[in-house]
Amino acid sequence: MKITSISLTRLRLPLDPPFNAAWDPNPRIEFTATLVAVKTDEGITGYGSGDTMDGFAAYEHLFIGTDPMQILNQVRRIETINFHGGRYWPLEAALWDIIGQVSGLPVSVLFGGARDRLPAYASSGELKPPAARAESAVAAKERGFKAMKIRIARDRIAEGVSSVRAAREAVGDDFDLMVDLNQMWRMSGDITAALPLAKVQNLAAELHDLGVLWLEEPLPQVDVAGAQRVRQSTGLQISGGEMVRSAPEMMALIEADAFDIYQPDVALAVGMYRARQVAESANLRHRLFTPHTWSNGLGLLANLHVAAGVDAGPYLEFPYDPPGWTPERRDFFMNPLHIDSHGDLIVPQRPGLGVEVDWDAVSRFTVD
Ligand SMILES: [Mg+2]
Repeated sequence: MKITSISLTRLRLPLDPPFNAAWDPNPRIEFTATLVAVKTDEGITGYGSGDTMDGFAAYEHLFIGTDPMQILNQVRRIETINFHGGRYWPLEAALWDIIGQVSGLPVSVLFGGARDRLPAYASSGELKPPAARAESAVAAKERGFKAMKIRIARDRIAEGVSSVRAAREAVGDDFDLMVDLNQMWRMSGDITAALPLAKVQNLAAELHDLGVLWLEEPLPQVDVAGAQRVRQSTGLQISGGEMVRSAPEMMALIEADAFDIYQPDVALAVGMYRARQVAESANLRHRLFTPHTWSNGLGLLANLHVAAGVDAGPYLEFPYDPPGWTPERRDFFMNPLHIDSHGDLIVPQRPGLGVEVDWDAVSRFTVD
């Protein structure tokens, strides 16, 4: 089989009401996504998404005429571009979609087939005052979620702790809360200083008292020793690694025992094939793997298939912070993914990734 074309469709959705992501100092008025479609000479089309694919046109010729089924070679090819170009993992997702269709199996089965559903946690994204965050946690619990992640901004620590405390008091103890400090990577142009280790240790101690399940990315990536000290001094689980630039970088963090939970996004950080190796390496060391998923519905779907295949957990990230971030907005160019009444995200059982592209939405939101 040969790849005959790779098309990128750039989509732009106006954000009304607005959504102000805690990790982005420049609020967006629109949400952009790129839909990757890979066609083969046998009439099969695979879809992927998750990152912008900016600059990919310069490398497209490296893939045309190659065999999509030789997935390790495709992964290696994508990794060679990492040096001068971007990380084109949405292309790998589209190739797995093809491989799944050819084999007649959902991609999750090709990754181990451990689960056909995973409990999802409501991953909030905005900084909300304590009362509003507590209200949102109660609403998430009523919707069926068993857990929620709350962002704390490094320049608004006291307010952040108050939000976690208000949420804990509102939902009780039988609902897991996680906290994300987002200190391991930055949005382009954000050069403000990271929170120092001593302050992070104090914060972690407070969060431990509030029964927080894990603290995510408490320090910059270089400070592995700091992350270990936070774990040892507070007993709080530490997670991280959602945006590492390569699989070897991720493996070095695992070798250093940097975290309790490793979270590389398969659509943004290390790809799907390499994420399985990361998951197995973490699990064989009695550590956990559960990927970051915050891109769009198709990025979430790629992460879901890998996560279900390799038995990720304890929860899968489900970006959700209404009214600013809803499944309909996140998945605006496809069939939206929803949790069931038990709080589980079900793996589509159709061959491939199982995405149903909404072509009306694609034509409405395509950027010329
Ligand atoms: Mg995070």
